[in-house]
Amino acid sequence: EAMITKDKVLQWISALQSAYSENKAYLTQLDSAIGDADHGINMDRGFTTVKVDLEKTLPQDIGAILKTVAMTLIRTVGGASGPLYGTFFLRASTICPSKTEIGAAEVVQIFEAGLEGIIQRGKARLEDKTMVDALTPAVNAMKQALQQGNDLGTILQKGADAAEQGMKATIPLQARKGRASYLGERSIGHQDPGATSAYFLVKTAADTLGK
Ligand code: ADP
Ligand code: MG
Ligand code: MG
Repeated sequence: EAMITKDKVLQWISALQSAYSENKAYLTQLDSAIGDADHGINMDRGFTTVKVDLEKTLPQDIGAILKTVAMTLIRTVGGASGPLYGTFFLRASTICPSKTEIGAAEVVQIFEAGLEGIIQRGKARLEDKTMVDALTPAVNAMKQALQQGNDLGTILQKGADAAEQGMKATIPLQARKGRASYLGERSIGHQDPGATSAYFLVKTAADTLGK
């Protein structure tokens, strides 16, 4: 089966940078309804710096690329989402240390380990109206698709579809973590910004690693 190269991983990160840049206003608008109107600004700043840092250092392998992403996000994003996405990529980097090629199983493990890191760090549970609500169904769908012997394109597409559903399913939820939780019942009826940026994480992977 086709392997995912270092260049493909760089394409994913680049697609993510474009997605956050193009959706900066959208993510910030979602955060203005139930937060402090900075989520798009945070994600765009983080991934724009990631792009600069990757161009400067050109890491040797996939693990090193993911670790650079992690360190840059932790340094530049701030807020709740910076350390959480930083932890996602730091855990992801431990799946493929010094590898220049990975297979479908490792791609799924990247998302699984990353999500575990976010949960350990942020202590959010399912339906707390966070990024966990998009990533959990995505990881479950990808694990199942992998077990069924699907190719990586199918696996990631199923993951992206599940993440999109999970993202939309945050609308009727009341937030129990992060700034949105301060609003209590007034957080109901709005899509969670972090679940939306998490959907882009999976969607861009489907559009790059899955092709
Ligand atoms: P801040 O709230 O500090 O301004 P951002 O606006 O960048 O940070 O990110 C907000 C997003 O972070 C929320 O929409 C939510 O998805 C996510 N989030 C907040 N707290 C947690 C947590 N404890 N666990 C997981 N995700 C969280
Ligand atoms: Mg915010
Ligand atoms: Mg903030």
